[in-house]
Amino acid sequence: MFWNREIETIDRTALESLQFKKLSKALSDAASTPFYKKVFKENNVDVKKIRSLEHLKDLPFTTKADLRLSYPDGMVAVPRSEIVRMHASSGTTGKSTVIFYTAQDIADWADLIARSMMASGTTRDDVFQNMMGYGLFTGGLGLHYGAERLGCMVIPASSGNSLKQIQLMQDFHTTVIHITPSYALHLGDVVSEQGVNPPDLGVKRAYLGAEPYSEETRNKLQEQWGLTAYNSYGLSEMNGPGVSFECEEQCGMHIWEDFYIAEIINPDTGERLPDGEAGELVLTHINRAAMPIIRYRTRDLTRILPEPCACGRTHRRMERIKGRTDDMLIVGGVNVFPSQIESVLMKIPEVGNNYQIVLDRHENLDRLHIRVEIYSKMFQGDLKALERLKKKVVEELKALITVNPRIEFLEPGSLPPSTGKAVRVIDNRKI
Ligand code: ADP
Ligand code: ZN
Repeated sequence: MFWNREIETIDRTALESLQFKKLSKALSDAASTPFYKKVFKENNVDVKKIRSLEHLKDLPFTTKADLRLSYPDGMVAVPRSEIVRMHASSGTTGKSTVIFYTAQDIADWADLIARSMMASGTTRDDVFQNMMGYGLFTGGLGLHYGAERLGCMVIPASSGNSLKQIQLMQDFHTTVIHITPSYALHLGDVVSEQGVNPPDLGVKRAYLGAEPYSEETRNKLQEQWGLTAYNSYGLSEMNGPGVSFECEEQCGMHIWEDFYIAEIINPDTGERLPDGEAGELVLTHINRAAMPIIRYRTRDLTRILPEPCACGRTHRRMERIKGRTDDMLIVGGVNVFPSQIESVLMKIPEVGNNYQIVLDRHENLDRLHIRVEIYSKMFQGDLKALERLKKKVVEELKALITVNPRIEFLEPGSLPPSTGKAVRVIDNRKI
């Protein structure tokens, strides 16, 4: 199903010339802002000399630190009276950054979300319960306006308050939800505790995003809820959700290339990598009047999947985010991503829906400690079974990450539940 077949299936040559046209405009808008005026001058950049998409790679990157430096409005390209809204990032890695939008920017974003949701079959007949936080965070309002644009009936539930969420689902026959994967796992448990089988709620489709998660978690959630889950990616610097979304094929997220130019770079050298190679995603926003951002280093690690998609969309896809460059853990010299640990845990059927990674240093040695909730019935069985399970978890983890973890099993509900972006890692080594 297409929201805008023409743009979604545009041929690559036409797409690239559209991108170049929009890039030229974004660059001249950017050059009018205090921040880019300075950066372009320092780097001897004359935006008029950027005569093809290829030249983009000669421009300097923009980083989160730059956004913080130009806080609050050093990157704004329109008069204050043109701005109708602001949002801020969640501040997962430090001070939040702020983003501004004109009325047209908001309308374009809503249209992009309508396109993204329809790509996996959502229509005006759906009842959409939005369980992402409303407010400065882009996940709530971003999908809210998009779903309204599509014509869904929107329930602006926001995150948390699980019993209320369940009641809304029951009373209004919610068919589509938008939720973080960590909250979806927790909410599924709360539904079961209420004596309701989650699939009986009749939710057909979930959009999962805002935090990294593994394919195993997707599978687990699909099973737990009896729905189909689609990955949704975005970041506030690029409007918020809607940078890339999965279509019905569920095999990577189409990057909406008429809004964003995507590059993959080697995070250490900054050098551009060819399609298919894993690295850091760099995005240029070519469709925002209020605040153009050029070559933004997302710190998110992924790969471009250049093969055509069976759905017919020509916009290239990106793979599930493996993690952020800054959430990679170095344990005793070995690089470990929390998503690797999660992928092992979530495919073990006895393992429940929450876990925590704790790092300590003892006599100069790093220690990796994983606290895992497992289903209560395991504690009622014999101790040997528990020991066997522990051995299995340790062995599977060791095989993947080469570090020997200490595993602690906990009863369900022992760890703090997440209703938004989960905090999985506690690194005591820095203190
Ligand atoms: P913050 O950077 O402070 O968390 P945002 O709220 O803008 O601020 O969050 C954007 C970030 O969330 C992305 O850069 C990415 O790391 C993460 N993210 C969003 N969607 C996904 C997704 N589908 N998979 C993995 N990570 C995601
Ligand atoms: Zn597709």
